[in-house]
Amino acid sequence: MKINLAKNAGFCFGVKRAIDIAFKTAGSRQNVYMLGDIVHNEEVARQINSLGVKKLKRLTARSGRVLLIRAHGTAAITTAKALALGYRVVDATCPMVKEIHKTVKVMEQKGYTIIVIGDKKHDEVRGIVGQLKKKAIVIDNPKDPALRRLKKINVGAGNKSAPTGYIQKAAVVVQSTQNLEKVLAVLKELRARAGEVKFFNTICRPTTVKQQEIRIMPLENNVMLIIGSRSSANTRRLYEISRSLNRKSYWINSKKDIRRAWFSGAKSVGVTAGASTPDSTIKDVVSCLLRLNP
Ligand code: SF4
Repeated sequence: MKINLAKNAGFCFGVKRAIDIAFKTAGSRQNVYMLGDIVHNEEVARQINSLGVKKLKRLTARSGRVLLIRAHGTAAITTAKALALGYRVVDATCPMVKEIHKTVKVMEQKGYTIIVIGDKKHDEVRGIVGQLKKKAIVIDNPKDPALRRLKKINVGAGNKSAPTGYIQKAAVVVQSTQNLEKVLAVLKELRARAGEVKFFNTICRPTTVKQQEIRIMPLENNVMLIIGSRSSANTRRLYEISRSLNRKSYWINSKKDIRRAWFSGAKSVGVTAGASTPDSTIKDVVSCLLRLNP
């Protein structure tokens, strides 16, 4: 059985950068705190916590301590509150996410209603929405009730007969790890519901490249393994795309989840991993597959 490892499996530069910052900050021997995990991967979180970085549920007064902001970013109010409470803030937000923050703030100032295509509950989306003064609209998929609630129009911008709730000017950004096909389907619906739609494709380059690979690999391999934590949104999307193309696609967290029966009669197995999956986990999976090989 041939093992084909995706060229872009595993850490993206934003995750690598955040982990480097976390290690350096933890190494400075200050009291370092985080609201949640640095990235969505239990093994990485365990390594960082083992250096003494502590998780907080909410911010409380801790003068002289450090708050480490995660790769997904956070709401502006959280940073402001941390500073007011006396924390030194170390920001490990991915630069691509920072770019989305900048875009929504500029477009809000220009009078656009901000629409975010993404998962309402995801930290990155909460952080984007949390940059704004007004409420943003978050739409997850073409069937999302939040989208259906926006009135369809067949009148031009500024027409007095436009229905209540009609959006004159919308600026649309995307959670960085979304699936482009789904985004375009939502966008099509949005264009029928706003006078002007300015679309910013903020899916990041590492996600685009990974998704290009996962549209080909499941067609070229008998079995697909997608490695990553259950809490990793980008791994979920890789799995969903893979599964839609090859039913023998399996989402695993580590080598422990591998089952020999999956590979019966398989001539090749494709392996990829989400952006927050460490190289060590990928190597373990590949070694395990090599051992399974007849
Ligand atoms: S997936 Fe993209 S946006 Fe997220 S951390 Fe990686 S490079 Fe940054």
